[in-house]
Amino acid sequence: AKLTGKNQFVYFESQFDENMQRFHALFSALSTAEKNNEFHMVYQPQYNQQGQIVSAEALLRWDHPKLGAISPAEFIPLAENKNKMKDIDLWVMRNVIQQIKHWRAQGMSTVRVFMNISGQSLSDVNFVNLLSTQLSDAGVPYENVGIEITEYALISENDAMINQMKWLQRRGIEIALDDFGTGYSSLSYLTKFPLDYIKIDKYFIAHAPIKEQDAAITKAIFALSESLGMQVICEGVETQTHLEFVRDQNRQSLIQGYLFSRPVSVHDFEALLAREVA
Ligand code: C2E
Ligand code: CA
Ligand code: CA
Ligand code: CA
Repeated sequence: AKLTGKNQFVYFESQFDENMQRFHALFSALSTAEKNNEFHMVYQPQYNQQGQIVSAEALLRWDHPKLGAISPAEFIPLAENKNKMKDIDLWVMRNVIQQIKHWRAQGMSTVRVFMNISGQSLSDVNFVNLLSTQLSDAGVPYENVGIEITEYALISENDAMINQMKWLQRRGIEIALDDFGTGYSSLSYLTKFPLDYIKIDKYFIAHAPIKEQDAAITKAIFALSESLGMQVICEGVETQTHLEFVRDQNRQSLIQGYLFSRPVSVHDFEALLAREVA
């Protein structure tokens, strides 16, 4: 501030105030979002390379009457920071499991739905109990759900957490490691934790076709997952070029991205599934 002069300083100060104000406004609005029915889920299909939907990712949306649609990229880190993720995860689990229950009752063909689960839930000793109770109360089999966890969630690794994950996996839940390669990667996670899928982050999908070093890293992730017996889900496949790069690496990996479908409402997701069967 000293070097940039008084006006500059005032600018930064007001910018800072604005950010703080938004932070507080969002945080206080977030605490009543659930009660006021401001959350809903959207679903993004995950495809095999024959173009069939094999699973889906459930993604949270928050629409506030005054603040508008707030991206989870903004409010999830906020909730994480304030140690509020358990409530959100619980809402997501309830909502998704009730949705699957509904689909089953309607006799619709259902696919496995992956939910994003935070480290705060995963490291809670009650997590497995919560999830399995909800599944059995709703009569939804473990095979209908999967969980996506980030590397960041695995940082606080401990035996209890690993055992909870193994317990779920033995009963039929699949586990995906999200955003692989972007943050706190430790290769030891890949063997320590029971993982069925590695999700390659959209950064790599976007950059591999145009940047040699990113192509090298992406190819190494494919090779690594293959030798460890894990499947790959490629996120952020937006173009034919992205798809071709993925196809050249591995014919078994799953595709998620705007090229095939954006995250869509329950209604539109049902239509996508119905089209599959027809
Ligand atoms: P994520 O788990 O990595 O989710 C993938 C994000 O990529 C989603 O953003 C999705 O809409 C977006 N995406 C999908 N296909 C494409 C594509 O082809 N191109 C591009 N550019 N983007 C694509 P979204 O829904 O805004 O979510 C952002 C992040 O917020 C998620 O990243 C996840 O970390 C978090 N999040 C979202 N829903 C939940 C939730 O229910 N629980 C938790 N704990 N986190 C959530
Ligand atoms: Ca995810
Ligand atoms: Ca991801
Ligand atoms: Ca991501």
